[in-house]
Amino acid sequence: MTAVGVGPGRVEVHGVHKSYAGTEVLHGVDLVVEPGTVTVVLGPSGSGKSTLLRSINHLEKVDRGFIALDGELVGYRRKGDRLHELHEKDVLRQRTRFGFVFQSFNLFPHLTALENVVEAPVSAQGRERREVEAEARELLARVGLGDREKAYPRQLSGGQQQRVAIARALAMRPAVLLFDEPTSALDPELVGEVLSVIEGLASTGTTMIVVTHEIGFARRVADQVVFMDDGRVVEQGPPEQVLDAPQHDRTRAFLARVL
Ligand code: ADP
Ligand code: MG
Repeated sequence: MTAVGVGPGRVEVHGVHKSYAGTEVLHGVDLVVEPGTVTVVLGPSGSGKSTLLRSINHLEKVDRGFIALDGELVGYRRKGDRLHELHEKDVLRQRTRFGFVFQSFNLFPHLTALENVVEAPVSAQGRERREVEAEARELLARVGLGDREKAYPRQLSGGQQQRVAIARALAMRPAVLLFDEPTSALDPELVGEVLSVIEGLASTGTTMIVVTHEIGFARRVADQVVFMDDGRVVEQGPPEQVLDAPQHDRTRAFLARVL
């Protein structure tokens, strides 16, 4: 298998603060994700993991700090020493460089598996439908669903739907894949099939940021593990360091709960 995506996919998060209605939930987050690496983000519920992911592809606007993808600011352009917001269409173009996989799949219920994968590259990227269909079939085969292209979401298990959602994200040829608790909504027996698809992508050098509570997955796949608590990165490093020799009490307490 070859890596998907078009760019190297270096993500830089610098000094990011974010509030909702006056309450700050990210208190200055710094993070660098190198191209071709997997970053797993751990942390208790409410610690700001989803807000961080959504800020990275500018689904949320940050209040301070910046995000860059391959050296290009996300959502802004620099003019002198000022930042100016990009026009909506430029934001949308930038956002296509990030593939986003949600906890709740979010497939279009009235479209087949194949149509779900084909939709965005045709409508948002203006690519030729025939060509996209051929690629979509390959992507469905790659996630183990080559024989289910005509199935509608309601005819698929949760694990199969999430694998379609992964194929759909890949169809945009993103530089970076963002996963927000991709297995949290699944019955336990379906978790493994989704994790092994993500693991397969990791082995091809696809740049990924994965929010998950699956510690075994983090141990096997992560180049870097980031532990967040209360809107801050408390600890980060290779999995053997953060998972096996955590330096902070809050990391230890969290790991004791989820392991
Ligand atoms: P996590 O994904 O780690 O559970 P979130 O990023 O979802 O954390 O949430 C961080 C904090 O921000 C929580 O206190 C949450 O209640 C709050 N929050 C998240 N989204 C919103 C929103 N759209 N409006 C207001 N508060 C929000
Ligand atoms: Mg979340």
